[in-house]
Amino acid sequence: ALPVLRTRALRVVASPGTLPETVGSALQVPTLSGPQPYANLDHAASTPALRTVKDAVDRALETYASVHRGAGYASRVTSAWYEQARAEVARFVGAREGDTVLFTRTTTDSWALLSKALPGRTTVFVFGSEHHSTLLPWGRSRTVRLPVPQSPDDAAALLEEALADHPARHRLVVVTGASNVTGEVWPVARLAELAHRHGARIAVDAAQLSAHREIDLAAWDADYVAFSGHKTYAPFGAGVLVGRSDWLDAGTPYLFGGGATTAVTEAGTAWATGPARHEGGSPNVIGAVAIAAACATIRTHREAIEAHEAELLARLRAGLEAVPGLELLSIFGDDHDRVGVLAFTLEGWDSSLVSQVLSVEHGIGVRDGKFCAHLLVDELLDDPWQERSTTAVRVSLGLASTAEGVDRLVRGVTLLVEQGP
Ligand code: PLP
Repeated sequence: ALPVLRTRALRVVASPGTLPETVGSALQVPTLSGPQPYANLDHAASTPALRTVKDAVDRALETYASVHRGAGYASRVTSAWYEQARAEVARFVGAREGDTVLFTRTTTDSWALLSKALPGRTTVFVFGSEHHSTLLPWGRSRTVRLPVPQSPDDAAALLEEALADHPARHRLVVVTGASNVTGEVWPVARLAELAHRHGARIAVDAAQLSAHREIDLAAWDADYVAFSGHKTYAPFGAGVLVGRSDWLDAGTPYLFGGGATTAVTEAGTAWATGPARHEGGSPNVIGAVAIAAACATIRTHREAIEAHEAELLARLRAGLEAVPGLELLSIFGDDHDRVGVLAFTLEGWDSSLVSQVLSVEHGIGVRDGKFCAHLLVDELLDDPWQERSTTAVRVSLGLASTAEGVDRLVRGVTLLVEQGP
């Protein structure tokens, strides 16, 4: 039986984790500490805010005023921050000249915006392995859903066949940069080349790339990209959509209202083009400042971030692979490149019980479930005998994760197996 959940007093401590001294302070994130340090192994859900982000937000909170709506000093400074934030995001994603950078609320919001801006009767191609926010917003009638592929070659073959079978004037392929379930990195440049060869566009969901790997629209030759601040070491409330401006400038404005129009008369409304068209209402400048600060810090310290994560991922995998009855989930095969995210099942154990025991007994934060990717998890856990848990445990690494936390997780899981279900 599960021990009763006790609420333990947790306090916030600033921790440089296991990062090298030289970069430790720039990449500091707050972590929680109680009877033992809280092992944050749940970065795929949300990341803690960087200290540099907190500093930037603190500064902005002292001066901010309305964006693009005032002639006063504070309003002009705030408007400049907002546009600088846009420029930093453009740099962070390798945007091309002429691409539009939009501030949204989240990745989910970005895809909702793009889905409403698509030219009429655009056909959208999407793999069943996608997160629901990428799978669902396009509407069933215009979506061609592809099966979960078994390898990058299979993904390319499935897409090529689907594009050949579904000609349309406007077509958009939507694909993840890294899976939020298995952490596996998708061959986006290859799929972009294929899409373009068939006259289609491609949008990349970078929600699980932004904190881990470089996003490069120009190098991938992709058309759109989206990610969320709260998964990129900035707080909740702001996300981005970046990409080709023609469809966005012609598409239905996402939020009708102030700032999105150039003139309103009895005869009609003239809508703005550029970011203003879709950013009706007073924008979330604090969210934009936070995302921009996170992007700048990540860009500057990318090597240290990737090294930290690669070291922890290798340690985690080595530890988990030695646990009897533990099976890793993978789409493309266990050896495929992945960011610091992985999911597993434990023979004889229900995944929600595993994650609760890890939390209550060991102070470890992981997530269990189907991770808003039901089709993928159902496919990967397909078990006609129903002997396997129908959900998985996900472990996701980042700047608040430490080697000690990873070792504690491996010990916790090993103990469960030793005790038996
Ligand atoms: N796409 C992927 C791959 C994700 O992992 C998530 C969130 O987990 C999303 C999209 C949606 O992000 P948000 O909840 O910030 O909209």
